[in-house]
Amino acid sequence: MNLILFGAPGVGKGTQAKILSHVYHIPHISTGDILRNAIKEENPLGLRAKEYMAKGDLVPDDVMIGLARDILDSDRCKNGFIFDGFPRTVAQAEALEAIFVELGIKVNRVINVELSDAQIVERLNNRFICLECGKIYNFGIDKFKAGDRCFKCGGEISQREDDKRETVMKRLEIYRTTTEPMRNYYSEKGLLQNINGEGDINNILQRFLRALQN
Ligand code: AMP
Repeated sequence: MNLILFGAPGVGKGTQAKILSHVYHIPHISTGDILRNAIKEENPLGLRAKEYMAKGDLVPDDVMIGLARDILDSDRCKNGFIFDGFPRTVAQAEALEAIFVELGIKVNRVINVELSDAQIVERLNNRFICLECGKIYNFGIDKFKAGDRCFKCGGEISQREDDKRETVMKRLEIYRTTTEPMRNYYSEKGLLQNINGEGDINNILQRFLRALQN
């Protein structure tokens, strides 16, 4: 199965992508996670992306398209994939289309997760992340308090720099103006399915599983 997920930051697509990757035994490819790792490793990709990400801006299309091509051409994606966070612009979607043609890949479904801006801001306010392994914690749902370490790897738990309120508002605006137009792009191709992102993880998962059964 070849899946593309998109939706505003904080709608829960990363959480669902991780679960679906276990259900369908296909890799979860999060471009945000790849970039955060690259920044941690201080490799050339990380050095290029760092400033954009800290400000809540998108990393330039040419960097992201090159990255996506390398990933799709690798063994990792030979049995399918879930793309989470790529494409994020119509230019990226068009370039991805050309890569799919070149590599003989067919996308099964493009899923757009929807949530209101007010709910997104509240979720991101409560979202914390392990700086070592990337595990996501939700204040109010997961039991942790200031100073606790990640129960999985012992790393430091902190808010993502780009989840701070001002940056969130900017990311949301970029999403509405630059990423949301992809809905038309994929809708015209008959690939788009919208999913309601309200409710808890299990509610949303059930909606995904129903959508993917059809
Ligand atoms: P995410 O974890 O998906 O919210 O991504 C975090 C940040 O990584 C974004 O705000 C962008 O700065 C950058 N990023 C991730 N994927 C892309 C993409 N496809 N195009 C441009 N920038 C991206």
